[in-house]
Amino acid sequence: MIDIAIVGGGPAAYTAAIFAGRAGLNAVVYESELMAAKIVSISQIENYPGFPNGISGEELSDNLHKQAEKFGVDTVYNEVKKVGLDGIYKKILIDSGETIKAKTVILAIGEMAQKLNCSGENKFLGKGVSYCAICDGTFFKGRDVAVIGGGDAALASALYLCHLVKKLYLVHRRNSLRATKILQDKLKQCEMTELVLNHEVKEIQGKKFVNGILLQNKETKTVKRIDVDGVFVYIGSKPNTEIVHELVKVDEQGYIITNEKMETSCPGIYAAGDVRKKDLRQLVTAAADGAIASFQARQYIEMHY
Ligand SMILES: Cc1cc2nc3c(=O)[nH]c(=O)nc-3n(C[C@H](O)[C@H](O)[C@H](O)COP(=O)(O)OP(=O)(O)OC[C@H]3O[C@@H](n4cnc5c(N)ncnc54)[C@H](O)[C@@H]3O)c2cc1C
Repeated sequence: MIDIAIVGGGPAAYTAAIFAGRAGLNAVVYESELMAAKIVSISQIENYPGFPNGISGEELSDNLHKQAEKFGVDTVYNEVKKVGLDGIYKKILIDSGETIKAKTVILAIGEMAQKLNCSGENKFLGKGVSYCAICDGTFFKGRDVAVIGGGDAALASALYLCHLVKKLYLVHRRNSLRATKILQDKLKQCEMTELVLNHEVKEIQGKKFVNGILLQNKETKTVKRIDVDGVFVYIGSKPNTEIVHELVKVDEQGYIITNEKMETSCPGIYAAGDVRKKDLRQLVTAAADGAIASFQARQYIEMHY
């Protein structure tokens, strides 16, 4: 029996772990080995308070792990398959087949990038297909790439890439971009960028590596090919909420609904970080959510057990 089962491996989870450990609670972090924490892939973080010269995602992640360990919180590297209830207790089924009983659960399971689901996307993953411009952009220095999407994430990535690449196509299935005006204005200043509106990606082509994409015009249905070495997909994200299906209330996109105490619709189960319905998904807000969830879980334990 543990006090808090913390599911996740990012800043929300580890901040919750630090607060729980420091408060003397018996908490364990369950982190999937398969889904590497997002922050590890961030080369330089410039907006996390306290680091005027920035910090790499890897170093920040390492520090968070060490700090949680210092307060006695262990990490079990195993994917959580399901979270359920056993009376007032919570039960967590992990990939090894073991079921863990806990007084409270903090869900800090983040979100995953959505896929195009077109031919070639999986085949060329890591061979030209990427979901992270900051992580992989440097491999495409001086080459031609396409960014797929029309929202803020797509444009922010395009802006990052356009300083590295020779030519950048921004492909969007609608006839106007959704991104904020400031990003659109900035992108207009990048001469090597060409907008390809009203087109959908039908296929990602290549031999060993990507060498082009097939695009279909949504109105005329005509198909054209553009030669690119890299494809960066930014068409949205999906929260990792399958493990709590029908246990907690989610919004229409699947993000967990909480109040400002990070309480979900299920008493004793909290959500923190990107998996939560919220406006700003960043490291600092994830960490803040984790701290609040941990504090509230402690109060819940004192009241109910
Ligand atoms: C390319 C990129 C650059 C970014 N740059 C910045 C930046 O500069 N500054 C900034 O503030 N933010 C940045 N962000 C956003 C920031 O990374 C996120 O807001 C933050 O990581 C969210 O933290 P989290 O703990 O909620 O989720 P995550 O960091 O996504 O962690 C979720 C964790 O849950 C684990 N998990 C999921 N399901 C399960 C399961 N069933 N069982 C066990 N474990 C599970 C995953 O393995 C993962 O470790 C960036 C994001 C991206 C993609």
